This record gives sequence, structure tokens and C-alpha cells, in this order.
Amino acid sequence: MSILDLSPEHRALAETVRSFAREEVAPVIGKLYEAEQFPYELVAKMADMGLFGLPFPEEYGGMGGDYFALLLAIEELARVDSSLAITLEAAVSLGAMPILRYGTEEQKREWLPVLTSGAGLGAFGLTEASSGSDAGNISTTAVVDGDEWVINGGKVFITNAGTEITKLVTVACRTGTQPDGRPEISSIIVPSGTPGFSVAPKYSKVGWNCSDTRELVFDSVRVPLANLLGQRGRGYAQFLNTLDEGRVAIAALAVGLSQGCVDECVQYSRDREAFGRPIGDFQAIAFKIADMETSTHLSRLATYDAGLRLTRGESIKHTAAMAKLYATESAVTNAREATQIFGGYGFMNEYPVARFWRDSKVLEIGEGTSEVQRMIIARQLGVGG
Ligand SMILES: Cc1cc2nc3c(=O)[nH]c(=O)nc-3n(C[C@H](O)[C@H](O)[C@H](O)COP(=O)(O)OP(=O)(O)OC[C@H]3O[C@@H](n4cnc5c(N)ncnc54)[C@H](O)[C@@H]3O)c2cc1C
Repeated sequence: MSILDLSPEHRALAETVRSFAREEVAPVIGKLYEAEQFPYELVAKMADMGLFGLPFPEEYGGMGGDYFALLLAIEELARVDSSLAITLEAAVSLGAMPILRYGTEEQKREWLPVLTSGAGLGAFGLTEASSGSDAGNISTTAVVDGDEWVINGGKVFITNAGTEITKLVTVACRTGTQPDGRPEISSIIVPSGTPGFSVAPKYSKVGWNCSDTRELVFDSVRVPLANLLGQRGRGYAQFLNTLDEGRVAIAALAVGLSQGCVDECVQYSRDREAFGRPIGDFQAIAFKIADMETSTHLSRLATYDAGLRLTRGESIKHTAAMAKLYATESAVTNAREATQIFGGYGFMNEYPVARFWRDSKVLEIGEGTSEVQRMIIARQLGVGG
């Protein structure tokens, strides 16, 4: 039995999302991408399909599935378009999952139904202008004043933070200093529209053009003490766990993008002729596609392995980092080679491979850069300091 043998439920889900991506996303995404528009209608359809609730218990409005189901949905979306895939990934893995994992019963009942239905999106604000990889060094502060937290500071590059349907951002804040002198970090839920919380216009990005990415400013933002997510001082451990899970999801996104490159190149290399023959007859092209297929297969194996371990509740720090590192670097290579196979057409935005190329690079950066993944893998082996 192979790790790639999906259960009937997982197979049916993957096929449903594949059909949705091909029939409803592919025809319209190019224009939305060029216009840099958030795809509200497609997101609403994904919500109707239950995708935002996949790994959540039914009592909180979820579908009662597992995290592996989410990975399959992300992979199938990314096979056609990464913006939708990252919108789903960030909403579920970064926005809603921390509330399920660390929230009080009251917080879960208040926030999860709207997030798991997909009617609202949640975001996760960790990165700051001067601390990304060094995320323990954030400077946004939250201090207690009466029965409220008062938050001051800012975040950069936050996904899903400024859409018309964004409901909250979970913000990593310094809430004090630990006895050993290190910052005490806690996570606090800030609902959209809270006075003093402002969202900058969306960035102009190289890729993921239909995904919403914003800079956030917190100017004496007041929220109830009850908006603390989990225990005070546990924010650092929470976001490390959240990022471990998120890395598997980014790996799944990379697998989908790599597979999309193979899909497009197989077809194109049969159709496009040069020197009187289909370009796929040239070994130089056929071998590129063979390499792309091989790295996609290996990326999928690593990702599904990490995903199954995650679903079984095992520690995934090492396997998640390896899956993320290998799958994302392979996706960048595949996107570059796919663009090459398409020749000049590969440089034209109307061709999906051009989008794949633009969307691939950020995979090596978001949710921990390739360098950070190598640090994690090396440290698990007891090397690298
Ligand atoms: C489109 C997009 C969406 C994002 N969405 C979110 C989001 O929703 N929420 C959120 O909190 N963040 C988000 N991010 C932020 C992302 O996680 C960070 O950009 C990423 O972690 C890198 O941080 P940085 O940009 O500050 O780079 P830096 O940490 O400044 O790194 C710069 C370079 O130095 C390298 N480097 C740093 N430290 C070391 C070291 N010790 N050893 C070797 N090399 C090192 C890095 O690998 C990188 O190559 C998003 C980013 C993008 C681009």
C-alpha cells in the first residue's frame, strides 16, 4: 500500500476540488489576476463547498474532516491557481486553526462558525517590518489597562487581513519580559473594525495577485482581556506549532503548482511544433518534463508523509520542514522550466505557466524561508548551532 492511496472520502474530495478548479477557476482567474482583484465570488463558492470548514469539528460549523483533507483541497486549487489556494491555506491554517487549538470554549463558539463557513476570514499577524525570520523579536506591545489590552505597533505582509469579509486578526504581541530576560509573547484576537486598528492599501506583489496582503497598524487599540488566545506568555510556542502545520499546507500548495506545470507542459509539448515536429519529441524538452514529474512525485510523497503524521498527532517539526523545503524549491524549478518550455508564450500573462512562475518564488519565503527550514532540519540532527 502506498502513501498515495487515498481513502474513498479523500479521493472524492480531491476530484470535486479538481473539477471546481478546472471548470470554474481556470476560465476566469487570468483576468482577475491581471486586475489584482480579490476573487470574492470564487471564495464564496469555495465556502459553499465547505472547504473552509474541512478540518474542523461539526459542533463549530466544520465538516468534521481532517487536516489531510485540507492539504488535498489546497493542492488541487494550486494546480490551477495559487491565490485561491493561499487564501484557503491562510484562512484555515493561520486564521481559524489557532482558535480551535488554543481558544476558550467561548472564543470557539464566537468565532469558529463564521470562519469555518467561509463567510468570514481570519488572519494571523506575526511578521513585523524588522522581524520576520527572527519572529521572537517582535516589538508590537500589549499592556493591561483595567479590563482591556491596549495594543501598539504594526505588522507587515499579512494575508487575508483587509478583505471585505475579514473578521479578525490574531496578533502576536509582547506582553512583558520573562524572568530570563526574553520577551513574553502572547496572542490576542483583534476583530476587524476595532478603533485604532487600520489596514493599509494592499501591496503590489510579484505574484499571488488575487490574494489579499496588507500592512497593519495598531494605535492604542483596545480589546477585552478575554481576547487573549490561550495562556499569557504562550504565544511563541503557539506560533511555532501553527507554522509547523502551515508549512505542510504550503508544501501541498507547492505540490499543486508543480503538478500544474507538468499538466500544462505535457499538453503544450504535444501541440507546439518546431522544425516540423512536436517539441515534446525533442529529448531536451521531454527530459525537462520527466524531471518535473519526478520532483512533483517526491514532493507529494514528502508532503503526504508529513500530513499523515500531523493527522495522527505525531511531532512534525522535522518532516514538515523537509516537505516545505523540498516541495517549494522544486516548485520554483518546475515553474522556471515550464516557462522555458512555453518559450515566448511562457512570458505572456495569459498563459498559466507565467502565473505559476510569478507565484512560485514566494513559496520559498512565506511561513519560514528555505534558510529557516534548513536551520530547523539541521538543528533536529544536532548540528548548525
Ligand atoms: C505574500 C506574503 C504573505 C505573507 N503572509 C504572512 C501572514 O499572513 N502572516 C505573517 O505573520 N507573515 C506573513 N508573511 C511574512 C513571511 O512569513 C516573512 O516574509 C518570512 O518569514 C521572512 O521574513 P522577512 O521577510 O522579514 O525576511 P528576513 O527574516 O529579514 O530574511 C531575509 C533573508 O535572510 C535570511 N535569514 C534570516 N535569518 C537567517 C539565519 N539565521 N540564517 C540564515 N539566513 C537567515 C532569510 O532566509 C532571508 O533570505 C508573508 C510574506 C509574504 C511575502
